[in-house]
Amino acid sequence: MASYEEVGIGDAVLLDEISVRAFVNNLQVRYNGGKIYTYIGEVCVSVNPYRTNNIYGKEFVSQYKGREIFERPPHIFAIADAAYKAMKRRGKDTCIVISGESGSGKTEASKIIMRYIAAVTNVAGQQEVERVKNILLQSNAILEAFGNAKTNRNDNSSRFGKYMDINFDFKGDPIGGHVQNYLLEKSRVVLQQQGERNFHSFYQVLFGATDAELSRLKLKRNVNAYHFIRQGGSPRVDSIADKADYKACQQAFKTLGFTGDQVDAIWRIVGAILHLGNIEFSSGGDETQIQNPQEVNSIAELLRVSPEEVKKALCHRVIAVRGEVMEKRHNDSQASFGRDAFAKAIYERLFSFIVDGVNSAIEVRYEGVAARYKYNTVIGVLDIYGFEIFERNSFEQFCINYCNEKLQQLFIELVLKQEQEEYKREGIAWQNIEYFNNQIICDLVEQQHKGIIAITDEACLNVGKITDEMLLEAMENKLKGHKHFTTRKLSPMDKELKHVEEFRIKHYAGDVVYSIMGFLEKNRDTLFQDFKRLMYSSSDPVISEMWPEGAQDITMTTKRPLTAGTLFKNSMIALVKNLACKEPYYIRCIKPNEQKSPVIFDEERVTHQVNYLGLVENLRVRRAGFAYRQSYDRFLRRYKMISQYTDVKYGKTKIFVRSPQTLFALEQARAKLI
Ligand code: ADP
Ligand code: MG
Repeated sequence: MASYEEVGIGDAVLLDEISVRAFVNNLQVRYNGGKIYTYIGEVCVSVNPYRTNNIYGKEFVSQYKGREIFERPPHIFAIADAAYKAMKRRGKDTCIVISGESGSGKTEASKIIMRYIAAVTNVAGQQEVERVKNILLQSNAILEAFGNAKTNRNDNSSRFGKYMDINFDFKGDPIGGHVQNYLLEKSRVVLQQQGERNFHSFYQVLFGATDAELSRLKLKRNVNAYHFIRQGGSPRVDSIADKADYKACQQAFKTLGFTGDQVDAIWRIVGAILHLGNIEFSSGGDETQIQNPQEVNSIAELLRVSPEEVKKALCHRVIAVRGEVMEKRHNDSQASFGRDAFAKAIYERLFSFIVDGVNSAIEVRYEGVAARYKYNTVIGVLDIYGFEIFERNSFEQFCINYCNEKLQQLFIELVLKQEQEEYKREGIAWQNIEYFNNQIICDLVEQQHKGIIAITDEACLNVGKITDEMLLEAMENKLKGHKHFTTRKLSPMDKELKHVEEFRIKHYAGDVVYSIMGFLEKNRDTLFQDFKRLMYSSSDPVISEMWPEGAQDITMTTKRPLTAGTLFKNSMIALVKNLACKEPYYIRCIKPNEQKSPVIFDEERVTHQVNYLGLVENLRVRRAGFAYRQSYDRFLRRYKMISQYTDVKYGKTKIFVRSPQTLFALEQARAKLI
């Protein structure tokens, strides 16, 4: 058996001194000793090792399987096992919330958890369960191909939020699952920063497809030939094997039951986007012209639509004025804007289509015993973007940071508040611990009428009449004096520096300044109806069915679609509601350095993350309290034969054990007796 001795203090609750410094030092000592996991009670802190550690193999699985959390050194397996046990033994729906900034190891953690669950289930070796496990694991290859990209922070950065439910039957074997995706960063389709890439899928197809496949897609095997994927200047990345990943992705499509026609349409859409990015417009006057019509033909062929209609949709807009239909020609900048919006929209729609496909492959099919009882429980795994502060923050960061406020709020509700309230309810003497309740920031963003999203939505109603600057003014008027909100406006002298019109939110994790530019546009998130009709007109049913709204008649006044901000807000509220009714387990991920190095522990960077994850507050609450609590009957049933341990307090319905060591000693003493 691999040796896995302790270094530093495995459970921070047992630290001599409770301070940010002591906490970070302990993480460092452990990190240097190769121990990447540390507990705060039942919360698992994980520091990205940036190296492959041999701690996830079979022998480790068997060390953690079925054990109590405190019996073995800290490991993510123990948390996965606790969630699994709670689900299996007590019939509880559980969830594992993984948080941390980009590159801290969330997605790897979620995959380790899934592999652990796959390793401990289906001891009977049933074929159907094996099939389900296999598709659950392979779904990652597809979702990552289309939803992940190389960024400066992480070579395999998830550019969407993901919540995955795994369903289990009454025996505790996986029988299916469901993926919910959140806010794909679609702006990446048309624009990447220096050193970054577009979504992996574009490079996978160029490097991985056969010559014949490429020629069917009218593509050259040359990344630099395509504007949409060469802007970052780093098409090849050492740590990414595009060719092999393409193969794995194709294999996963097969395993998950995507049809040949579907897979074909998927890659043709990817190809069409590459051609779209090369379209150039220019004009003598106001009437735009396409400079490279051969690209139009390729797009038309790949999307199975008429080249005339592609040209029309790119250069015109059809509008209805008092019931009369008119064509209006774009100028160059309107046309470029339309082209980019089109590229982003079809990629986003493609991604949703792929997620739907994954879901139909993994959805629970009630068969055998399950069909009779329809009994199942769930473990949810949330792997979602962490807090983001960039040099320039825009609408996307605003949404992402709002999401983190919501998750922090949930954490406060579930872990901090409930913990304190349980002591009160049980009548255990208890000194209140101060912690910052971020509800006020959630309200600032999401409140009806007065919240930032509501104010932005209201401004979006007045198409064409309101500018981003006016939106900022509206925010200022309505939110003046709010403790967590300020604006910065320019003096008339700085007029040409328009882009610095901004507002600042004092988030629980720190201050973030958001540029207002583009807020209205990104929130409204409209695509000219012409493009929707174009896609709907495709003779390829796979593509046509992705765009049902293209069937709408132009003269019909349609209901205004919900804005991006409101859709996101609704999805966050639904997410939190869903998580709140499950028993939560937490993995808090930390990124030790910016260099992706396995040997650097940047104390300042880690301290910053420890602060904004609220880990020391979490530790204080935990430490002031009791590590373990259990109802009397369960406790007595388990430990009745050993009675000399005294480090406990008696609540009204539960008994509270102060230190995990006591519990561990109880467990050992019990083991000796039985
Ligand atoms: P996030 O999802 O938080 O942005 P990832 O999970 O993608 O971060 O991790 C970024 C990179 O860090 C991975 O590609 C991998 O190289 C490394 N990494 C993360 N967690 C581990 C781990 N437990 N063991 C080894 N390497 C890891
Ligand atoms: Mg990720």
